[in-house]
Amino acid sequence: MSTPQRSTSFAQSSPVGTLTRAGELFQIFRDGQARTRAELAEMTGLARSTVAARLDALTALGLIGPAGEALSSGGRPPSRVAFKPASAVILAADIGATHMLVGLTDLSGRLIDERRAGTDIAGGPEVVLDQMVELATQLLAASGRSSGELAGIGIGLPGPVEHSSGKPTNPPIMPGWDRFDVPGYIQGSFDTQVLVDNDVNIMALGERAAFWSEAQDLLFVKVATGIGSGVVCGGLLQRGADGTAGDLGHIRVPRGSGVFCRCGNEGCLEAIASGPAIARALSKAGLPAVDGEEVLSLVRAGNVQAIQAIRQAGRDVGDVLATCVSMLNPAVIVIGGSLAAAGEHLIAGVREVVYSRSLPLATSRLQIVQSRAAGEAGVLGASRMVSDHVLSAARIDAALNS
Ligand SMILES: [Zn+2]
Repeated sequence: MSTPQRSTSFAQSSPVGTLTRAGELFQIFRDGQARTRAELAEMTGLARSTVAARLDALTALGLIGPAGEALSSGGRPPSRVAFKPASAVILAADIGATHMLVGLTDLSGRLIDERRAGTDIAGGPEVVLDQMVELATQLLAASGRSSGELAGIGIGLPGPVEHSSGKPTNPPIMPGWDRFDVPGYIQGSFDTQVLVDNDVNIMALGERAAFWSEAQDLLFVKVATGIGSGVVCGGLLQRGADGTAGDLGHIRVPRGSGVFCRCGNEGCLEAIASGPAIARALSKAGLPAVDGEEVLSLVRAGNVQAIQAIRQAGRDVGDVLATCVSMLNPAVIVIGGSLAAAGEHLIAGVREVVYSRSLPLATSRLQIVQSRAAGEAGVLGASRMVSDHVLSAARIDAALNS
């Protein structure tokens, strides 16, 4: 991650106190680059003595440490310091309707190890979260890290979540989960910070952190059993007033006329372009398919009818995305979720409509791409959600002043 914007805004802030802004200085190190005191003084406009005092404070917290020597222009080479991401670990869980992936990462989001298991979200929160805790315990034991080294736990759930409290709100496919205190329950096993969000939001965070850190405006669209999106604007994930920002699946599309959705409305995008919807349409047309996975098998086998259906689903998704492009002017649209595994067929449909329906200026630099984090986007994003929180300038300064 490069830091031109960050260092510019930093240089403009007025340096006060030696410890109070150490958290802000630390943000420069999150790109993983080692730096000398002189470089930091230059980047921030702070006096070298101020930089040294702040680095001492960050070193005492264990967040940074020596990272070798820089090239010298004569005399003793200046020493460099860098972020020490292994100083703590994060547990990151991506819980879906039928399976979960739990990962252990360092503070930079590097995946150390992961465990995968089948689950049934409809089994209720205790059963599912106990299973998650079991996998998390195995991960810690296998890595030789203790629960005391946890910086936090991040969890993605397949339904709407009130991020501030970590409670699911009226999740349609999750009986027993409404208003359940997920952080409180997990804290019965691990005494650490627990953050929860819906799965598409954390996928957007993970994809951006791993592959698009330069992109300030990004849409991550998940096309699977359901359709939704995570919206990053100005570098920040947008959850909206009630946590439902980016819920594209229930926007009405022209081709959906007369088709009823599981939400009760007619003509929703999800009712014609999700995995089950495509499977239903193909079955009706005489090509039996039970779900999205079977549609993908047909596509992989080169079945022309299935390929056409996936491409049409891409156009339907593109129909809604063309409006989003006008609203948000993203630099990148990432297509993820299980149906993205159909690769170019789905994306070709999206591109066809978005590029033809949007104004040239809005698409002059727009990239529409397949998810690269793929199955790991959720876990990477759950980790990022935690690290963004615990490594924020405010939290670090609070730790130093406590
Ligand atoms: Zn609907």
